[in-house]
Amino acid sequence: MEITILGSGCGIPSLDRRAPSILICVKNHQLLFDSGSGTLVRLLKAGINYTNLEQVFYTHTHSDHCADLVPLLQALWTTPDFKRTAPMYLYGPLGFSDFMEKMEHAFGEWVTTPNFPLFVQELHQTEIAFSDFSVQSLPMKHSDFSNGYRIENKLGKSVVYSGDTDYNENIIKLARDADVLVLECSFPGERKTAGHLVPTEAAEIAKQSNCKKLVLTHFYPPYEKLEKEIINVIPKIYNGELVIAYDFLKIIV
Ligand SMILES: [Zn+2]
Ligand SMILES: [Zn+2]
Repeated sequence: MEITILGSGCGIPSLDRRAPSILICVKNHQLLFDSGSGTLVRLLKAGINYTNLEQVFYTHTHSDHCADLVPLLQALWTTPDFKRTAPMYLYGPLGFSDFMEKMEHAFGEWVTTPNFPLFVQELHQTEIAFSDFSVQSLPMKHSDFSNGYRIENKLGKSVVYSGDTDYNENIIKLARDADVLVLECSFPGERKTAGHLVPTEAAEIAKQSNCKKLVLTHFYPPYEKLEKEIINVIPKIYNGELVIAYDFLKIIV
């Protein structure tokens, strides 16, 4: 598997750290997790053809995680000399179908009935099996409905993505012995905000879950102070490999 961090930031505009989005390639499948504002351009820059996307998984419907969903559908629908026949599958937490209906009301019928097959499914504590991989979801502690995801290939390699979350048992469970845990770490300790993690909590989750590699992302500015705290605090609690995500970071699993 190959992970590409397309956006390591949050909803605050930054030239270096764009809104959250992660591409995970399993064999020849390209799976997108979240698509914050700027994701389509990030994909272009990463050399990924958006027309090849098969599945997009949403952790929750805060705009920093899904602002490029409607633009993605519009691009797939209107690209000149391109007629998509392959179905597109969109997955999200509870409430995601209702969110899609609201997007349809706002932008038009084509959002839910474009000129290619589109399937929308809510995932709640479920595991879905595809031919080459499986995806498990568990609710996180953030908005009304938010999911974390665990992607596992046929060789047993696993990647977990938290989306946004506060400290909770489900992320520890989901990330149990994972090869890579991509975990949010929004603020330094002095700015602890409900619904998000600070470095000590992220380290505790990594330690408890026994993940092999911890990749921290979803940083709020100012970044320098947060990065310093991450480097100082995390290795005192968690013994595995620590990576501070940046845009276009690639990790092979
Ligand atoms: Zn967010
Ligand atoms: Zn959020």
